[in-house]
Amino acid sequence: MGAKRADIPIVGQDQTEHLQGVLRGLVAGTDPVRLLEQALKGAVQAAHGRQGLLVGLVDGVSTPVASTGPVPRVVVDAADAAISSGRLARRTERETKRGALAECLRVGDRVVGALSIGGDPATLDPVQLPLFAHCASLALARRPSTAATSVTEVLDAVAGVASDLDGASVLVRVFDAAERLFGATAGFCAVFEGSAVRIPHFRGLDREGLREASRHPEFKALLTSPGLRIDPPTHPAVALLSNGVETAVGLPLHADGRRLGHLVLLLGESPDAALRAMLTSFATHVALALRSAQLYRRVGDKEEQLTSVVHCMANPVLVVDDAARFVLINGAAAELFSIAAAFELGQPVAGKLGHPLLEEMLIDHNHGSTTEVVIGEVEPRVYKASARPVLSSGGRVLGRVLVLDDITKERETDQVKSDFVAVIGHELRTPLTVMKGYLRTLVHRGEMLDPHVRELALKAIESNADRLQRLIEDVLFVSAVETGRTTLHLEDTDLGALVDAVVQDRVKVKRPRKDLTLSIDTAKVQQVLNHLLDNALKYSDGEVVVEIQDRGEEVEVAVVDNGPGIFSGDVPRLFERFFQLDGASTRAHGGTGIGLYVSRRLVEAHGGKIWCESRLGVGSRFAFTLPRWRELETTDVTIDEPIATDAAIDVGTAS
Ligand code: ADP
Repeated sequence: MGAKRADIPIVGQDQTEHLQGVLRGLVAGTDPVRLLEQALKGAVQAAHGRQGLLVGLVDGVSTPVASTGPVPRVVVDAADAAISSGRLARRTERETKRGALAECLRVGDRVVGALSIGGDPATLDPVQLPLFAHCASLALARRPSTAATSVTEVLDAVAGVASDLDGASVLVRVFDAAERLFGATAGFCAVFEGSAVRIPHFRGLDREGLREASRHPEFKALLTSPGLRIDPPTHPAVALLSNGVETAVGLPLHADGRRLGHLVLLLGESPDAALRAMLTSFATHVALALRSAQLYRRVGDKEEQLTSVVHCMANPVLVVDDAARFVLINGAAAELFSIAAAFELGQPVAGKLGHPLLEEMLIDHNHGSTTEVVIGEVEPRVYKASARPVLSSGGRVLGRVLVLDDITKERETDQVKSDFVAVIGHELRTPLTVMKGYLRTLVHRGEMLDPHVRELALKAIESNADRLQRLIEDVLFVSAVETGRTTLHLEDTDLGALVDAVVQDRVKVKRPRKDLTLSIDTAKVQQVLNHLLDNALKYSDGEVVVEIQDRGEEVEVAVVDNGPGIFSGDVPRLFERFFQLDGASTRAHGGTGIGLYVSRRLVEAHGGKIWCESRLGVGSRFAFTLPRWRELETTDVTIDEPIATDAAIDVGTAS
């Protein structure tokens, strides 16, 4: 019953009697069927009609509740039209010249039936129909068929409520059941949240009316009683809710020893002892249903949180229950094992992963908890697999979880490091052995040697010492780059002169005759040039050409040889750290696989680029650029590019 209802229109003397009779009867609790008949009779008179029909909605189906006798079809049609449109409906049958007017019956916002009057379409008068419809709605809500007759019936009704685990629909069911069992067409449920009260659901009341009542100082009393509480229609807050005709029954909702909230139902009459017992039992079940819904939601939220975290993880994760059936498969695991989570959840894990050891770790609770496995045939990767039991808070084993950690990179890095140590040891030993040999000869037989031979020995010692120094500098440079400690010392340098200085046998320089002054770290650029020349001389027998070209914004330096050339598939990886071509020529020449990597880092630090063009059997051209202008505030540039962000030098993909 809305707190704000249509104002009562002025009524003729003869109809007042009917209305008063109905209202009095409602308050006095007269048999609702009689009241309905009385309201119907009054309505027929007031509308100047001949027949009247009252229909009620029972489970969504319109059912005749009272009539003044047999009614023509048009009266039924008008009633249906009023119900479906929710408004006054007017119908006329042309052939029979019969007409009908129907008004819908509402409780709060809900349409619960219709009052339809048949008669002469020319004289049917709708003015007072809403008033009778209103009285009829009140009487309809009071029909004996709507009252519960036993606790069993209450239990049956609340069983449906308890089976629902969604908080919002539990409340809808609560009010459906309250209406069916106790004829409570209006009421609300209040929920306690800390010190605040929230009203998540109400029925048969309008929002504003409820809000107004809730501001009344006596309203709180309706919600705070520890047991069933009955407030008469005269209670000021109840009067605001029900226009002073209904009794409020307050039912505390207790579950798990705590107060969840309060249910307030508006009833046509004060419940007797039997009905009170049923109401109390009803409240107990409502509270339990609400509590279950709350807990269910909380558990659901937790589970959803956990699941989404696991799904976001890059590590493959699998969870099985205590019977080793899949409970959770995250995206990474589904991809790794080529299984579809949608099909496999609930299925036994055995035979599904294509990896007996991992399946065993999930199935057998006594199995070792950590191991290293290799997965994948085309691109095998190394994983550290850890299995742990999933325990309940009471320590019961609910299942097992398997987490995989891709450690391919770590393992490759370990391998590369140990290879590097072996290679570098070898590379250091070679020039040292040569130097020692010559030194021994000079020490023991120096006096006896031909000056020309002595000169050759000293040159060999010098060039091997240079090689040793370069090697050590390269190794130190690689380590410095990785810890971000390398600095360029820029100075104006004539690139032409720098190139001229490296000329030796077999090397020819092609350069423009103009000034090529650039701001560079002379020693570092020399280091790059030496690397490229060393390689070219190492891998070819013929002439090596150093070309310098002025390209405006930048200067390009290239070292061209006519050596064996490089397979195009290997070219993109030449500048990676520790990359060496796997071939007889490489093996014959030794090397560490860091020269080109160091060259690239140095050129890039200068703001330039380095690349290789090569054709098998024809030769190679290694070129790099240096920008002409550098806009720098200082002349010191720190190379602090972290190695991990540079895909080209990613160790994981190198070998
Ligand atoms: P290394 O010290 O092993 O020579 P680099 O980084 O200088 O290392 O070179 C990497 C690989 O590139 C070498 O192992 C070699 O196989 C190949 N390479 C470099 N320069 C040439 C070239 N001019 N001709 C053919 N192959 C070359």
